[in-house]
Amino acid sequence: MESPKLHVVIFPSAGIGHLTPFAELAKRLSECHGLSVTFMTCQWMFSSHLIAAFSERMASASLDITFVQLPADVEIEGAELMKIETRISKLMEKSKGSVEIGLRSLLDSGSPVSAFITDFFCSAMFDVTAKLCIPTYVFLTSPASLLSLMLSIPKLVSEIPISFKDADFPVEVPGLPPISSRDLPTPLQDRSDEAFFWFVHHFSRLREIKGVLLNTFEELETEPIKTLVEGTIFNPTDGHRIPRVYPVGPVISSSPLESRDKLLQDRRVDCLKWLDNQPPSSVLFVSFGSGGALPEAQVTELALGLEASRHRFLWVLRSTPTRVFQPSKETELSQILPEGFESRTRDRGLVVPSWAPQIPVLSHPSTGGFLCHCGWNSSLESISHGVPMITWPLFAEQRMNKFLLVNEFKVAIEAKMESDGFIRREEVERVVRELMEGEGGRRVRARVRELKEKARTALEEGGSSFTAMAAAVSEWRTNAESPTAIIAM
Ligand code: UDP
Repeated sequence: MESPKLHVVIFPSAGIGHLTPFAELAKRLSECHGLSVTFMTCQWMFSSHLIAAFSERMASASLDITFVQLPADVEIEGAELMKIETRISKLMEKSKGSVEIGLRSLLDSGSPVSAFITDFFCSAMFDVTAKLCIPTYVFLTSPASLLSLMLSIPKLVSEIPISFKDADFPVEVPGLPPISSRDLPTPLQDRSDEAFFWFVHHFSRLREIKGVLLNTFEELETEPIKTLVEGTIFNPTDGHRIPRVYPVGPVISSSPLESRDKLLQDRRVDCLKWLDNQPPSSVLFVSFGSGGALPEAQVTELALGLEASRHRFLWVLRSTPTRVFQPSKETELSQILPEGFESRTRDRGLVVPSWAPQIPVLSHPSTGGFLCHCGWNSSLESISHGVPMITWPLFAEQRMNKFLLVNEFKVAIEAKMESDGFIRREEVERVVRELMEGEGGRRVRARVRELKEKARTALEEGGSSFTAMAAAVSEWRTNAESPTAIIAM
């Protein structure tokens, strides 16, 4: 008799940078490993049009993925004053009840859950899954090096008695060369900030779960992954276990999210048409992720630096940070760009407000470089398409990613910041020329093309990431065959 289909629940955190890889993971599990997936979210986490765009994509690929949106109507006092990490962590705590109802209703309908796969921001849900005896895993949408840091944090915090922002020395993270304390993730910088408390809280709860799926691949982060697999070095004395790790990446989309919005659809066509008319590998793509925005004075420096470099560019510009996939509140570009910039650069540059189809842009033959905010999805997308980068980190773990892209993977050139984080126009001009025509550019281009091939091979049957994913699936199958009694209490 054929064994029943393995069923897992995927529960992402808020933000498109989290939703995209989680949705792609769901697709991969269903398409390549034959799993049945329930993709669970709470209403407050994503806008309805974003969820609609994702569920349409999944439905059209006729995959065995069911979208469940839980009606968690939660509010927290003073949310607008909180850092995003604090806000999300608190909202997750308040959503536990809804998630428990959602999971219980699956179990009651006779649909056992072999694994609950979630984001580290959702550590609150570990309470729910422990209660329901559902094996729990985290999918980390950041590099393996960040997991190394996460597991080292309790030790680092006890050894270094001051905020990392005030510590002017390199920090030791297993599997990594010493890294400047100021390159550690922003929420960890200031101990008096609530976000610091939440990060340390989430990190310490990683010991409660069975495993971590990593959005990276062995050939990219060999040392950190080896160190994580060996495990013991993080807690040689206190006897705590380290979760098993499965490097299954790169988990990135192969196509951009299609919006029903006419404006975004037109923009997609305009960008690609414009690229079609540029020479091969001649265009620098400039983008700061789904929500990044620069202060106006920095926009001016970037514009004038790009202009002085004389290179072609496609620049996604927004005036205020947004976290949504929608064209509302269009940036009035002429109001924030230097006077006359658009007309002076018309023959070689295109500036688009808010959003561009990043995947098709990176895979277009005219694209020769990416000035990138070092978001992990963007970094993996660039590597997977063989596009070398200029680093311009803004927040979250992006400075740490910058360190990896430049020093470890050697696929990027660093745009040097002043001590106040500002990058001057002369530096923009220098770094753009170096990437697009210099010796440094040739070196990182050759290296990123090598890694593009390694990423492709890792995902093929028999490749390191495919094998790691199959190992995780096999563990879930074992969970399913010998359940520790999934009993609703
Ligand atoms: N993205 C896009 N078009 C844009 C900006 C972003 O398609 O104009 C996509 C990009 O391809 C990536 C995601 O949004 O998949 C951004 O994730 P990342 O981790 O790079 O940065 P975040 O937005 O989380 O800061």
